[in-house]
Amino acid sequence: MEPELRKWHTDKRVALAIKNLKKNCFAASYAEHPRDAVELIMKMIPAGSTIALGDSLTFREIGGLRALEERGDPFLNPWEKGITREESLALRRRAFTTDFFLTGTNALTLDGKLVSVDGLGNRVAAMVFGPKKVVVVVGVNKIVKDLEEAFRRIKTIAAPLNARRHNYPEPLRPPCGDSGFCSDCVPPHRSCCNTVIIEGCSRDRERITVIIIGEDLGY
Ligand code: SF4
Repeated sequence: MEPELRKWHTDKRVALAIKNLKKNCFAASYAEHPRDAVELIMKMIPAGSTIALGDSLTFREIGGLRALEERGDPFLNPWEKGITREESLALRRRAFTTDFFLTGTNALTLDGKLVSVDGLGNRVAAMVFGPKKVVVVVGVNKIVKDLEEAFRRIKTIAAPLNARRHNYPEPLRPPCGDSGFCSDCVPPHRSCCNTVIIEGCSRDRERITVIIIGEDLGY
């Protein structure tokens, strides 16, 4: 497809998603380039704020982790190399009381809903309640028509790639991480066991900011 044609189509989808996110009381904006998104996020966070990361490949891909490190303020990273599982779990719990929680999602519907899947549940739980503000970065590849398409995306793309990335050992190893396809497995193998739909921020308007980025990012 010609780039201008593709851009026209993407712009239309982004505009509709943003309009509906705002209707659902999210704060929402578009950053054409990852660097613009990172700049936006860094400006949103006042100096001295407490910050935590949810597991987000998109946030890493756009250079968010590097920007936080350069910024110098301390932040909680449960995926920091060298820490024990107990330390990681403690950081995930502390994330609930931070000022900012920075993460991604697995699908954004055109009618402005976030659909996220999580093995342990700390990421989706913190998106729903806890941190004062949540920033969700999402590539245009994750914009889907509706919930049905979102669930399909999770089973066919997000969960298998995530399982592959984490390379879980037995007995937790999901079959899709080896086969590439969902076989509707059951616990303890099932990693896509917490799927959360956030339909809006009506009880805490604009608590969640969604930043759509004009590139394919994460899964
Ligand atoms: S149900 Fe099992 S096989 Fe299917 S996507 Fe989830 S973890 Fe993978």
